[in-house]
Amino acid sequence: MTSLKIQEIAENIDLIKRRIEKSCIKAGRNPKDVKLVLATKTVPAELIKTCIINGDTLFAENKIQELLSKIDYLKGLDYTSHFIGHLQTNKVKQVIKHVNSIHSLDRLSLAKELNKRLARNNQKMRVLVQVNTSRETSKFGINPEDLPCFLEEINTFPAIYVEGLMTIGKFSSSEKEIRPCFQLLKQLADETDCSMYERVELKELSMGMSNDFDIAIEEGSTMVRIGTAIFGERKYPDSYYWKE
Ligand SMILES: *Cc1c(COP(=O)(O)O)cnc(C)c1O
Repeated sequence: MTSLKIQEIAENIDLIKRRIEKSCIKAGRNPKDVKLVLATKTVPAELIKTCIINGDTLFAENKIQELLSKIDYLKGLDYTSHFIGHLQTNKVKQVIKHVNSIHSLDRLSLAKELNKRLARNNQKMRVLVQVNTSRETSKFGINPEDLPCFLEEINTFPAIYVEGLMTIGKFSSSEKEIRPCFQLLKQLADETDCSMYERVELKELSMGMSNDFDIAIEEGSTMVRIGTAIFGERKYPDSYYWKE
């Protein structure tokens, strides 16, 4: 994929952190409340390892095969891994062995399988519910109006803790089209009465990528998922990762 060297990547990470800080200050928020998630699809394990050693320990993958191909190399390191891709039900068994959180819970059948496999392992997991805030048919995620019903159903699965929501902003160069997606996610979280559920908290909002994370932070993001702006352009088009 990238021809960027580790030195350039380290500089990019510093730059992104400064931009995160700037956006937080602009929005009157504490920069500590926004986590940088390295979106490492197509990034070789050696580079991820260097990032982890340098203290950037939270990374996320989109595909289980790719995660598995890297995980051995990272053995013994102190990191946190999240899953941000569309998760096929038949991959759940493998995913739960290797990630700390899943951002892309987008359907009941997936929640059901997750709960079953987690329970079998005596395991619990924090997840985010993916919401399709742009209503683009190319995107996964539940429709915004379905969130209350969906949470009610998820709440019946004791192995799953819903700690927030995730969305992908509209692909657009216009801030006017992007910002409402993030505003909507924040509004959905604010309007949810979490006391109605046993295992729903909605304190995390995973939103914002290379092109729009500044806007997402202004609208309340607590996790920005950044790939290209740190590691350079990817060889594969995003459709390879975002459709089945
Ligand atoms: C690849 C990816 C990102 C990062 O995208 P960039 O534009 O490269 O920063 C964020 N979220 C998801 C779900 C992704 O697949």
